[in-house]
Amino acid sequence: MSDASYDVIVIGSGPGGYVCAIRAAQLGLKTACVERRETLGGTCLNIGCIPSKALLQATEKFDEAQHHLADFGVKVGKVSVDLEAMLAHKDKVVQANVSGVEFLFKKNKVDWLKGEAAFAGADTVAVTGPDGKRATYSAKAFVIATGSDSISLPGIEIDEQRIVSSTGALSLPKIPKHLVVIGGGYIGLEMGSVWRRLGAEVTVVEFLDRILPNMDGEISKQMQRLLTRKGMKFRLGTKVTSAKASQRAVKLTIEPAAGGEAETLDADVVLVAVGRRPFTDGLALDQAGVETDDKGRVRTDGHWRTTAGHIYAIGDVIDGPMLAHKAEEEGVAVAEILAGQSGHVTYDAIPGVVYTAPEVAQVGRTEEELKAAGVDYKVGKFPFTANGRARAMNATEGFVKVLADAATDRVLGVHILGAEAGTMIAECAMAVEFGASAEDIARTCHAHPTLNEAVKEAALAVDGRPIHF
Ligand code: FAD
Ligand code: NAD
Repeated sequence: MSDASYDVIVIGSGPGGYVCAIRAAQLGLKTACVERRETLGGTCLNIGCIPSKALLQATEKFDEAQHHLADFGVKVGKVSVDLEAMLAHKDKVVQANVSGVEFLFKKNKVDWLKGEAAFAGADTVAVTGPDGKRATYSAKAFVIATGSDSISLPGIEIDEQRIVSSTGALSLPKIPKHLVVIGGGYIGLEMGSVWRRLGAEVTVVEFLDRILPNMDGEISKQMQRLLTRKGMKFRLGTKVTSAKASQRAVKLTIEPAAGGEAETLDADVVLVAVGRRPFTDGLALDQAGVETDDKGRVRTDGHWRTTAGHIYAIGDVIDGPMLAHKAEEEGVAVAEILAGQSGHVTYDAIPGVVYTAPEVAQVGRTEEELKAAGVDYKVGKFPFTANGRARAMNATEGFVKVLADAATDRVLGVHILGAEAGTMIAECAMAVEFGASAEDIARTCHAHPTLNEAVKEAALAVDGRPIHF
């Protein structure tokens, strides 16, 4: 006998799980969500997107006050950092967001089953609460939304003091003198930027010969140049073979990725940011007949259905980019399928944003991907140096690049490097979602003066007719 039964039980309350639970409840399904953390919101709200953006925002303000306000004729006295207050700002933002989800659960009548879930059969989960008590719940359908966890490298032990994951990097009690970041991806560049702005020397060690390997090559090259100008150092094509922490420092051994002479690097703190792994520990998937693939991801049929037909999986624990908004879209789609509707996600229209300064944002395909696929495409580019609002903001770094099909003019990809690129990419994602042509963007009236006019101009440039460049 189970303690309660539901139409759907969602396991995990990250952006995939909590959004799925709310949408399922909106559609009239009796819904519960199991979460083992003390607060709802998953990686994203507790130790990911939200706290990292709170620190990026705070340190950007510091950088602005220190280096850029004077250019606007704003004089400030000596600017200094109160790290404790900055970390408190981050914690407050996290608290507001996680309690917001708790409120939304109550509002939508989603039951929060507090504790760790493990399948106890095909239609039952056992939930072990924080007090060690175990209860069982049954449901007609389950959604696995257990997310991901950071990984390390062989022989490098994360102690969250000297050798940290992103979680430790969000709460360093002191500004390190030298921070070595292993991995030049999303986390490496965002958290590297945070501590660089606060005064740390930052060296990014990247295995490949470029940073942001999944982004457009031209953008990533330019991004590296801009970050270098801000004082970040890069060691590309380099691997870390060991990192030994003592009480006061870390000694790293690095060598060329292709093999060669080793050298050492000394750091106060090392951030390991080489990716994340799907998290299914303790779920007892075998009890329910749910299979994983060779990368440990829950295997799905392309419509989020696992090898057990009534059990679905979404978010970081399945295939695809590990992004909060991707998880959310999948959560909505699965809830709608469970309610008898036809949920859908357009994977080509999922934007990716790196929240550095300037930001990097993209949607759709990169030039490298189009070349590899043999697609004939046209390119339209527009630099922010030619955009009036960007000049007014002293934010002229970067450009917009629109890639369109050579024959049909359909927008295949948009890549933006520049201030507020993450906000600007929304109209581009909509263009991809609606199957718009570059001409459609070019003929859409964009308010003046806005940064978005650069998107319109890049779309005009696809046809060789930008007005302002
Ligand atoms: P998660 O958010 O990982 O949530 C899974 C939840 O399941 C967790 O709360 C976990 O405790 C719970 N759980 C696991 N197993 C069990 C169990 N057996 N029983 C009960 N509960 C369980 N993405 C973006 O789009 N934008 C960003 O700016 C961004 N910034 C990031 C910054 C950092 C530092 C990190 C680490 C990640 C960032 N991400 C960002 C990625 C984003 O956080 C993830 O893609 C997103 O959280 C995935 O959502 P999810 O619902 O799949 O899983
Ligand atoms: P990532 O995949 O973005 O970057 C990892 C980097 O580490 C890559 O450049 C990779 O080539 C490099 N790398 C791998 N092995 C290495 C090695 N042995 N030595 C040196 N470099 C090595 O992963 P991440 O930065 O850890 O972030 C994890 C995930 O979290 C991301 O994939 C992203 O989906 C998500 N995230 C998103 C955001 C955002 O949306 N703004 C922010 C943070 C994290």
